[in-house]
Amino acid sequence: MIDFNKETDFKNFDHDGLLAHANECKNCELHEGRTNVVFHSGHPKANLMLIGEGPGQQEDEEGVPFVGRSGQLLTKILESVQIHRDDIYIANTVKCRPPNNRTPKPDEMAACSDYLIRQIQLVEPKIICLVGSAAIKAILGKTESISKIRGQWITASVNYMSDELYIMPIFHPAYLLRNSSKEKGAPKWLTWNDMKEVKAALSFYDIMSTQ
Ligand code: URA
Repeated sequence: MIDFNKETDFKNFDHDGLLAHANECKNCELHEGRTNVVFHSGHPKANLMLIGEGPGQQEDEEGVPFVGRSGQLLTKILESVQIHRDDIYIANTVKCRPPNNRTPKPDEMAACSDYLIRQIQLVEPKIICLVGSAAIKAILGKTESISKIRGQWITASVNYMSDELYIMPIFHPAYLLRNSSKEKGAPKWLTWNDMKEVKAALSFYDIMSTQ
């Protein structure tokens, strides 16, 4: 698992400073093909953070994560459990589009990881959803099949709160687009159930913070 408490070179950066730095980043080859750095969307102090793999074509063009076909499905799943994109924070393991939407290489994920760690430290989410295998690999370092670990809560210790950080791996929406059955036990049905759990956990934090 990554060290969420790591003191990165960006330790004195606020969100705007980190974003400005990322916009100039040439740490790996992916910068050569980018139109835009796709850094984040949503609320900079959200209780829920979603981490995906990397930008696709539409994300690269617009500079916003999860706006293409899989993003639209993700948004629909979130809305079905009353989670609104503006209220959460969305980022990716790599901020620049890999050519032909290939999976980011380990060295590309490593080159981007301090940005992601600092993003987590600045947002201070209570819950993180890892969207797809690449995000699971980048954060948990696990290569176990996603079918085995999706839907399971994993905890990590972070120094910005006394409670543990709760992490939930879920299927990537691109996989759900290829497996569109909504039958009980199918990937879409499982993901909907996973998101209902995430919503319940989120509601708990929302209640606690108003007390
Ligand atoms: N897939 C991802 O993992 N992230 C995006 O931003 C878009 C598609």
